[in-house]
Amino acid sequence: MTGHMTDDTICAPSTPPVYSSIAIIRISGPEAIRAAASLYSGPREPEARHASYGTLTEDGALIDDVIMIVYPAPRSYTGEDMTEIFCHGNPIIVQKIIEALGRRGVRLAEPGEFTKRAFLNGKIDLTGAEAINHIITARSEWEIETSLRQMHGSLRDMIRSIRNSVTELKADIEAAIDFADEEIEFISPEAAVRSAEKILMTIEDLLARCRTGERLSHGIDVTITGRPNVGKSSIMNLLLNQERAIVSSVPGTTRDIIREQIQIGGVQINLNDTAGIDTPGDELERIGIDLSHRKIETSSFIILVLDAADGINEADRNLLEKTKLKKRIILANKSDIATPGQKNSILMDGGESPVLFSAVTGEGLKELKDTLSKRIREEFVDVKHSFIADMRIVSLLERSITDIRNAIRCLAAGEPVEITAFELQALIDTLSEITGEITPDDVLDSIFSRFCIGK
Ligand code: GDP
Repeated sequence: MTGHMTDDTICAPSTPPVYSSIAIIRISGPEAIRAAASLYSGPREPEARHASYGTLTEDGALIDDVIMIVYPAPRSYTGEDMTEIFCHGNPIIVQKIIEALGRRGVRLAEPGEFTKRAFLNGKIDLTGAEAINHIITARSEWEIETSLRQMHGSLRDMIRSIRNSVTELKADIEAAIDFADEEIEFISPEAAVRSAEKILMTIEDLLARCRTGERLSHGIDVTITGRPNVGKSSIMNLLLNQERAIVSSVPGTTRDIIREQIQIGGVQINLNDTAGIDTPGDELERIGIDLSHRKIETSSFIILVLDAADGINEADRNLLEKTKLKKRIILANKSDIATPGQKNSILMDGGESPVLFSAVTGEGLKELKDTLSKRIREEFVDVKHSFIADMRIVSLLERSITDIRNAIRCLAAGEPVEITAFELQALIDTLSEITGEITPDDVLDSIFSRFCIGK
């Protein structure tokens, strides 16, 4: 799909419409360089891919002093002629430049139109284009790193290598058609099934890694639980390093679930502080407690808080029992005011190895964070090798699995070669849709309309 040249020229601000030190306007298309040059005057002519300093004027009226960079095709983001103008970050100036460009036949770009052109000109594949959007919306270091890798082609290369294996298998099988009259067997049916099964396993593994990425990008649910007044809100605040949850010495004040996002080990964690689980005092508290129980069920990880100074009571034992099968860490909080005897007894009695903790002094905080990041890595076996895939990619991978299963069934049943080859071609087409070699226009529109303007 290379060499797709558009005949109109587009422009858009790539920075938000706020007062700031600098704003950037991008122009792409056949008139990109000429239109900008007709407004620009500087000590020197702009040189390809070099910053030049000059003044923009229209009909003698001053617009702004700017830095301008021209990128002649094909060495630009979109693969077309491009210009970037760096002006002062005043929305009025940006508007004036856009209007002046408009009078030179340059129209305002649609959201994602620059990246769409980059895709159409073969600068990036569809998985790379989608990754660019993720870089901008990412909420954790992991997501940024994964998106960057994906922009560089990590997912594209995986898909292409699978597709090559399928193409080879198809060729091997089809050789049997071309040389049907001869008594040579090119690939045994058993070997063909084995190859197809290997392809199936590779796609399943890839899908699993995309699903991991999907879960990671939504964040890992971690719930802090414990009976009232053991210090849950204080621990949450310590983790957040800010005063979001209401801390109070009256038991039962955290009635609903407070949800905050933090980053641990580069991964986004949704931290939930639940209502203290004890006997409900009123209706509102009962609802809060119900919610807490449900949150415990659905969380990936539980931080169970005990009170080291107060010892373990019936409510604690219930919670220890209730969370027994969950991934959890047990904190013996308030170690700062517990006597050595109290500490010893909670370490003996508080379930598997509680961590002595204090929300006041920060004792145990490092261990809590280390345990959390270790557990995340254990649960998501290969954080480093997961992918960020949206519904589009996940459902195409699911379809690929159906396609290869069909082919395996044909091979195993000894169906005519043409039928198996047809199924394998369906798989090749599905894989090509992921990277965008075959993609319907409406799918492209829906992908790029999710981008920001100017990207
Ligand atoms: P929650 O009901 O479990 O959320 O408990 P809070 O976080 O509201 O804390 C209850 C009380 O215990 C407050 O007065 C806190 O200041 C106090 N507290 C919490 N953690 C500690 C701690 O580690 N040491 C001490 N000395 N007091 C704490």
